[in-house]
Amino acid sequence: MTSAPNHVKGDLAHLIHPLTDHSRLPEAGPLVLVRGEGSELVAEDGRRLIDGMAGLWSVNLGHGREDLIEAAARQMRELPYAATFGGVSSPPAIELAGKIAELAPPGLSGVFFVSGGSEANETAIKLARRHWVRDGRPEKSVILAHDRGYHGLTGVTTTATRLRPYHGDFGIAAPDIEEVPAPYPYRCSAGTPCDPETCPVCTGAALEQKVEGLGAERVAAVIVEPVFGSGGVIVPPSGYLRRLREICDRHELLLIVDEVITGFGRTGAWFACEHESVVPDLITFAKGVTSSYIPLGGVIVSDALWEELREPAAHPGVLMHGFTHSGHPVACAVALANIEAIEREGLLAVVREKAETLAALVAPLGDHPHVGEVRQAGLMVGVELVADKATRQRWPVEAERGRNAAAEARRRGLLTRGLLGDVLCLAPPFTIADETMERAVEILGESIEATESLHR
Ligand code: PLP
Repeated sequence: MTSAPNHVKGDLAHLIHPLTDHSRLPEAGPLVLVRGEGSELVAEDGRRLIDGMAGLWSVNLGHGREDLIEAAARQMRELPYAATFGGVSSPPAIELAGKIAELAPPGLSGVFFVSGGSEANETAIKLARRHWVRDGRPEKSVILAHDRGYHGLTGVTTTATRLRPYHGDFGIAAPDIEEVPAPYPYRCSAGTPCDPETCPVCTGAALEQKVEGLGAERVAAVIVEPVFGSGGVIVPPSGYLRRLREICDRHELLLIVDEVITGFGRTGAWFACEHESVVPDLITFAKGVTSSYIPLGGVIVSDALWEELREPAAHPGVLMHGFTHSGHPVACAVALANIEAIEREGLLAVVREKAETLAALVAPLGDHPHVGEVRQAGLMVGVELVADKATRQRWPVEAERGRNAAAEARRRGLLTRGLLGDVLCLAPPFTIADETMERAVEILGESIEATESLHR
């Protein structure tokens, strides 16, 4: 009998991991996953774990879907690759662009494909700036990005990501990205407790002031996540996105809504901007479009921006942007199968139902003395751990409160993350069984309690 392969040594020898302290990795060891079954994962050492984050908020249909696997295999046999450069195309890219235009809010109809969320936002920012350059106003180039927003880690998007730990090690920032405050009532920069009806941040007044301070003639666009994911599952007060739309209209700015996490169902609608009936100028997507079975992302643009590209008299010339894998036929075929499954199985309604079940399950976590707030939008939950419930005081970073709880959860069979150190999150697959969801929340609670004694 041959012994099972052990990849730990190989991992430590050669594999560079994102968001990982490699000096500490040998202590706990890498978690080598070898199989996925629905909402559960199997590690090389035989442990089973609940996939509490659906990978990285993305394996929305769960693991082991034969329909997605078949779609990839069929397309690989037929035509594994075709570029979309220079007017070349393939049926899956064409059909997917049409399907996404059909699902997007009315008024958006052009789709540009990339391979992930960072490329999608990098592209959206370039398209927004190009619009003003072609309009004869190249000085209109500033992008307003929210504190605690996460938009990716390529060149410009690293700077548009307004989370400090991502900046320190990489030298100069990209120019013309300006920060605006986060609509984060629990820790509002205008003071807490905050009344979202009157607070200058949550009403968008602070953002508008920033536009006026810079001069609208210098500002190209505002970028925002409908629900801030990696920044700590921050759910902006209802009406915030609508106010951003109004401000953008008043000052002639483009609105980029980053739906990389929320797109394709995670909040119970195809796109989260639908909850406020907001029509952005550009929507970015990735992750859930293929349930992460294969990398794909993209940007959906307004009719006006799409028309600009097609109207030679107004805007002549080639769109000098794109990637080798833009419109990759295999990725597009998987996305078509993924969207078809969401429709066929009525998964948007399932998300809405499961979100209610999840809300009831997580509510009691708020009673724990270390839990400051439990936040939720659809199947996204954030549990913010605090040192002092009354004053909302944070744990010192070096205490690693959230990371310790997440590590304990992993030992007990649940994969979760401690965002920014102290926000534990759950974002399960849409197809998770209620009993599994129940067990996931139970483990989360047990793990917060079990690590309490480390933090007194
Ligand atoms: N935008 C948001 C809201 C995200 O959550 C992420 C990734 O988590 C990105 C952009 C970047 O996506 P990617 O890691 O695919 O480049």
